[in-house]
Amino acid sequence: MIERYLGAQRSRKIHRALRHGKVTFLCLVLTVVVLRGIIGSGKFGTPEQDFNELRDRLHFSRKRAEPHRVLEEFQTTATSDNNDPNNYNAFDINKILVDEGEDDKPDPNKPYTLGPRISDWDEQRAKWLKENPNFIAPNKPRVLLVTGSSPKPCENPVGDHYLLKSIKNKIDYCRLHGIEVFWNMALLDAEMAGFWAKLPLIRKLLLSHPEIEFLWWMDSDAIFTDMAFELPWERYKDSNFVMHGWNEMVYDQKNWFGLNTGSFLLRNCQWSLNLLDTWSPMGPKGKIREEAGKVLTAYLKDRPVFEADDQSAMVYILATQRDKWGEKVYLESTYYLHGYLGILVDRYAEMIENYHPGFGDHRWPLVTHFVGCKPCGKLGDYPVERCLKQMDRAFNFGDNQILQIYGFTHKSLASRRVKRVRNETSNPLEVKDELGLLHPEFRAVRV
Ligand code: UDP
Ligand code: MN
Repeated sequence: MIERYLGAQRSRKIHRALRHGKVTFLCLVLTVVVLRGIIGSGKFGTPEQDFNELRDRLHFSRKRAEPHRVLEEFQTTATSDNNDPNNYNAFDINKILVDEGEDDKPDPNKPYTLGPRISDWDEQRAKWLKENPNFIAPNKPRVLLVTGSSPKPCENPVGDHYLLKSIKNKIDYCRLHGIEVFWNMALLDAEMAGFWAKLPLIRKLLLSHPEIEFLWWMDSDAIFTDMAFELPWERYKDSNFVMHGWNEMVYDQKNWFGLNTGSFLLRNCQWSLNLLDTWSPMGPKGKIREEAGKVLTAYLKDRPVFEADDQSAMVYILATQRDKWGEKVYLESTYYLHGYLGILVDRYAEMIENYHPGFGDHRWPLVTHFVGCKPCGKLGDYPVERCLKQMDRAFNFGDNQILQIYGFTHKSLASRRVKRVRNETSNPLEVKDELGLLHPEFRAVRV
């Protein structure tokens, strides 16, 4: 009951934030239109130039308070044979998906920590690597791509299908680029539910995998749309944390979407453990997260009123402690380490017409991130039809690059069906796939 009351309060807050957002949104649109007229810039559409579009669309879209999972909707829709034990539709999934026991309750008198303090990780890791030299990758840093989803089924009937597409898409990219994948479905720390769940997970993985140099976190609602683009690893040799974003927006404007925490690289080192310790205190759900949300909204530009989220917290840390962290943080905007759906999905056909995979930027984006769509939730920030249709198109856009290796392509970006683009041959090793993803030179860059 109390839960429901809080839930209703939260959703009222969100609606208020949305209404407030709409007014600001209108003002921003006007400002943007006027500014564009004045400046007359023709560069719109490049990663550096998409602030305006982001501001227009993202302002009130990112974070909703974590929804309560209601599984009643999964109950039977079968009309004919409700009693047939062989009928999947007639089975109530709640019978087998049970949560046993209580979550560990933290000591309210102690400040939250991710785990025991470690201060010599670089030494520990160097010693381990020396003892296990086979784990040192020859050509490029060893990378582990990590993503995750809730342990429970999605709150809508097709959500899990989109999670399946998401993992298939990630496996494809990672296989081609010699990257390992870890998909997490366990909530390691109940305090850090929702978008904060990645923090305890990342720490655990860094400590358990000294062999990996970079951990690449990617949200489950982010899709690889350029299968050929290799990250410019050399560029990050002196950096520990790489996110898509803009220095000016984070450090000068203190804008809560000056960077995105839906796809980022974190180096396996002491610095990163320290950062995680600094990042986590706003995460524990309930009062702490609510109160921290107020601090973030007061400090950051354009942030609506809602509980603390990991992205705002990171902007806050960088803006308030630039001296401490800034030097090792790389805000990347020359390609889409994260690319916002609003500025990309309507342009796929134009990209196919004019370009080819391998650019990673506005010509052929590495990642399209469906921020705010909440495909596994009950309620997103956009119409469901638009979100699912565009997610399908993004998936097929990426999948075409995989299918083409094997001589196939989707009939259209909207189609599940495929057609042949090459005839079968009796000399298969002489066939060249268009993107060269199977060429020996490309294989050689894989670890
Ligand atoms: N996530 C998770 N466990 C959960 C809920 C979410 O690991 O129980 C991950 C999931 O990968 C999701 C990410 O947290 O993509 C961030 O949430 P979301 O993408 O919905 O936020 P948005 O990008 O829309 O702000
Ligand atoms: Mn996301």
